[in-house]
Amino acid sequence: MGFLKKHRKIIAYFFAGGISTLVNIVTFTLLTFISKNPVYEVFANVIAVSLSIIVAFILNKIFVFKSKSFRPIVLLSEASSFIIARAGTGLFDIAFIYFTVTLPSVEDPWLIMSMKLLSNVIVTILNYFLSEFIVFRKKRVSHFGKILFAEGIEYYACIPLSSCKVTKKYLLDKNGLESDSTVIMMLFPYRTKQRAENLSAYASVKDYHLYVDELSQKLEKFIKKKHPSAKFKVFADHSPIDEVHAACVSGLGFIGDNGLLINERYSSFVFLGECITSLTPKELGLTFTKEDEFRTCLHCGKCKEACPTGCIATDENGADKSIKSECLSAITQKKGALTDEEKSLILENGSIWGCDVCQNVCPYTKNAKYTPIKFFNDGVIARLDAEMLENMSDEEFKARPFAWRGREVIKRNVSMWEEANPKVDKPKDTEDATTNGAELDEQGK
Ligand code: SF4
Ligand code: SF4
Repeated sequence: MGFLKKHRKIIAYFFAGGISTLVNIVTFTLLTFISKNPVYEVFANVIAVSLSIIVAFILNKIFVFKSKSFRPIVLLSEASSFIIARAGTGLFDIAFIYFTVTLPSVEDPWLIMSMKLLSNVIVTILNYFLSEFIVFRKKRVSHFGKILFAEGIEYYACIPLSSCKVTKKYLLDKNGLESDSTVIMMLFPYRTKQRAENLSAYASVKDYHLYVDELSQKLEKFIKKKHPSAKFKVFADHSPIDEVHAACVSGLGFIGDNGLLINERYSSFVFLGECITSLTPKELGLTFTKEDEFRTCLHCGKCKEACPTGCIATDENGADKSIKSECLSAITQKKGALTDEEKSLILENGSIWGCDVCQNVCPYTKNAKYTPIKFFNDGVIARLDAEMLENMSDEEFKARPFAWRGREVIKRNVSMWEEANPKVDKPKDTEDATTNGAELDEQGK
């Protein structure tokens, strides 16, 4: 058992090699049964070899080298380097036989067979090392990256500040950040499995600004320990740069017709934040990234069609053109008295803070994963009611995304919603309206 564990990778590699060879032979045999035409046999061989390479790639990726990412950009890079590596070793095999056997006109069948065997051994070893060190090479994760991974932040990327749109320069100046600074964009997925009955997903979790403050302290501690004189600041929301644009430039997502950043794994249920620092990517143990061009908005029109206020406007290119009316999310945050039309919009949508309609209907949300970040999974509000709001201490209230507007606005919305949705007595064991992350099922669908 110990031997198997110790040599798992080598055994799996030979096993994968055996299976792909078998696929090659069986496919070729089956296809050549159909016709004995030599042209057809060449064609059958091409199909058999191609199929065996695909099988070899899948087995090596999943079982031998355990490369876990299935992001299109990673898959494409691995598949292309795998094919190039295999083509290279295939050419080596041809050249080896040509120079050792064909060129000197060796006729001894045993010597020819030995040379072919030797060539296969070399090719097998070469393929293994090419896969290990080039094709499925594990990216070295910097300590900085490790802090983010430990938090559950999988999507972060490094770009130069010069590639960002600076919108509030005074924030850079205030923090001593020059134009040659480095930006590390981060995505914080926030959607939990626990769905709130009357709040949008972002309003049912704790305020992400608090999370960013916590994270900022951890990152700053690490940075200052290694580089005490480095300039470093974490921003979220109140940022010197256009965050959505920077996240797109970083390859973390793209802008949908609903105006939101969409990430391939978490759809648009992500908050944005960024560290801006005087340190270079090398000092951070990171590298600059390029824009991921593989996914874009589908321009399917689903968000536009479903939007309760009709405020998503697109032109023939699918891009946002103008805002025809107000977003319902902004209406829920209005101070003072609401008009009858605004009230019925809120009640029809069922969310007393925020609106998720355009996010929920987006095809990218169908297979979107839930957040792995503990902060967001703890203390999710399943249903906000007047009693709960009343019993919230000032500290608890301040930890909520709707707190910045004061108690009156959310109180007004809650009482309006309660009037329209009278409370039904719940069984005792489900009375607690907040949940703890520990009680949730495994995240993700
Ligand atoms: S949040 Fe709601 S109201 Fe605003 S654009 Fe999306 S669907 Fe429309
Ligand atoms: S619903 Fe369709 S059009 Fe709207 S953001 Fe999603 S993919 Fe784009």
